[in-house]
Amino acid sequence: MVLLCFSVLMFLCVLRRIQALPLDYDADSMPDLSYLGDRVYRNPSLETGKLLEEWNATSELNPEELGEYAEGDIVFPKKGRNGLVSQTARWPKGVIPYEINGNFDSDSLNMINRAINIYHKYTCIKFRKRTASDTDYLTIVNTHTGCWSSVGRIGGKQEVNLQSPSCTTKVGTPVHELMHAVGFLHEQNRAERDDFVSIAWQNIRQGHENNFDKADEDKTTGYGVPYDYRSVMHYSSTAFSVNGRKTIIPKDASKLEKMGQRDGFSKGDLTKINQMYKCPEKTAEITGSKPTPDTTENKENSNPLIGVAQGILGWLFHRK
Ligand SMILES: [Zn+2]
Repeated sequence: MVLLCFSVLMFLCVLRRIQALPLDYDADSMPDLSYLGDRVYRNPSLETGKLLEEWNATSELNPEELGEYAEGDIVFPKKGRNGLVSQTARWPKGVIPYEINGNFDSDSLNMINRAINIYHKYTCIKFRKRTASDTDYLTIVNTHTGCWSSVGRIGGKQEVNLQSPSCTTKVGTPVHELMHAVGFLHEQNRAERDDFVSIAWQNIRQGHENNFDKADEDKTTGYGVPYDYRSVMHYSSTAFSVNGRKTIIPKDASKLEKMGQRDGFSKGDLTKINQMYKCPEKTAEITGSKPTPDTTENKENSNPLIGVAQGILGWLFHRK
């Protein structure tokens, strides 16, 4: 019996190798955040609160670029799942239970709901009011300083903070923070960004150079979407500037205006979200283009036996 089980397993291993499928879909599709290190664990910053109180819509910077947190606006609670940020995950079936717990005025509430509606219109992410049986969920608050979120689903209750009214003035800011919660990092820190922008290190405020660390090339994916200056996850050209001069300079000068926009998703943003959550048909529905054929979803369905093999192997390698 043992020998038979072993033989079946070896066969499945060989079959899996032939198909070259990723072993763990969540780990494969979520960025590895270990490059951010301990910087993601930050206490509320009074300086951030003051800067955001002074912020107004005419500012060149977005409010999420003013935070004294990792990359300005990435914060993880000290006790994440196993304390390892790299174990962040997708939301099953793209359903994100949430509650709004902050003391928001009606304008801010409207803006948060507008952001959620944009997700519902353009992506297959479904924000659903949290019920008592939801253990993993977002709570949207304004009780801390700054606009910030964790990245992906971290397990248990996780906060998205939107200091109001600064973080709820433009719809793109809640869209941006929620896109972190969905599982995405900053566009300007993509592994290949040096081919598209130059970082003017001499203009960056001392101590904020880490905010421009590039994501790990082997552990992140752009889902086939080229570097996207217009992404709602891209920072503006003077983010973390010490002297008002540009810190991010596009190699193609015509792209300057697009950087840091907070009007809503770029086409690339929704393509990436719908790829991560395996619903490329949603992008096709919006853009009129065909879904990308080479998706994990398509490969996953190409051979039902592979699905069984994956289930067994996933269980074997990931059970604790
Ligand atoms: Zn951000």
